[in-house]
Amino acid sequence: MFDATTKKFLLEKKIFQEFLMLFAGIKPVLKTIITINMYEPLKQICDCNGLYIRKSDFKVVIDPMRDMFFRIPFSDNRSDRIMVYVSKSKDMAEEVCSSELNGNTESIGRLLGYPKCCVNHYMAMTKKFEETKNAIYQDRILQTYLNTKGDASFYLNNLHHKEMFYLVSHFPCSYNCKYSVALAKKTLNILESEDAVLANDILLRLKLPALYSNYSTLFFEGLCFRNNKILYSQVYESTREGIESVFDLDMFKTGNIVEIKEKAINIFNDEKLLNKVTGLKDFVLFNFKSEKEKNMVAG
Ligand SMILES: [Zn+2]
Repeated sequence: MFDATTKKFLLEKKIFQEFLMLFAGIKPVLKTIITINMYEPLKQICDCNGLYIRKSDFKVVIDPMRDMFFRIPFSDNRSDRIMVYVSKSKDMAEEVCSSELNGNTESIGRLLGYPKCCVNHYMAMTKKFEETKNAIYQDRILQTYLNTKGDASFYLNNLHHKEMFYLVSHFPCSYNCKYSVALAKKTLNILESEDAVLANDILLRLKLPALYSNYSTLFFEGLCFRNNKILYSQVYESTREGIESVFDLDMFKTGNIVEIKEKAINIFNDEKLLNKVTGLKDFVLFNFKSEKEKNMVAG
């Protein structure tokens, strides 16, 4: 679909899947934050592919703790990032742009192709935070988890988004939202026909057991997952940009078994208990791989 240079650019900017969704008509408009120097190369890609691109009349400062951004004028040097809206339809791109200025989240969600249930959940959590000022409502991953009845689907694993391993670009209302799963399956189909190796790599990553707390995630390249224990050979981490990790990765690297208790995490090397991690808030062990196992929350 794209030439090699374009594909490399889109992959590096982590918007490859979203571009595929846009082309396939699954996503009417793509909205993303880029640095100003990315605008011209991105515009060229859009021009060559019959896409309309609109840049925001403001710069943005990202607040990683709230999955939000703040608008600042172009003259403000605190940020070099802008928002762009890309679509096959000029009208739709412009509509997202004006909805952004009017704070119309419902309209933005619809035009970005997000399921209605997920947009409603997003808005409800934003409202709850505004009413209570309780930071727990700002943690979209935790809120999605808490709203999940039954098992989490790997199709909706959004913990790897920073590394561009994802099949949905929105926060689902739950980790088994059927509308989001349907969307993810469509994206996967397109991705498989476009780049089967990449699709397979993404699937492998999305199925890894993950330990999440406060915007930090540990992924276990595991041999097995039993109840609340993971036997693993390797562990790596992903932390939201601008956030300090709550995990001591090196500590986990010394072990090969992690056991999740109600208020603590035990790290073993075979039978030997190496460390007991306590004091972590709201941690969640995700088992995206197996449909049978239950996830658990503690903290
Ligand atoms: Zn939903």
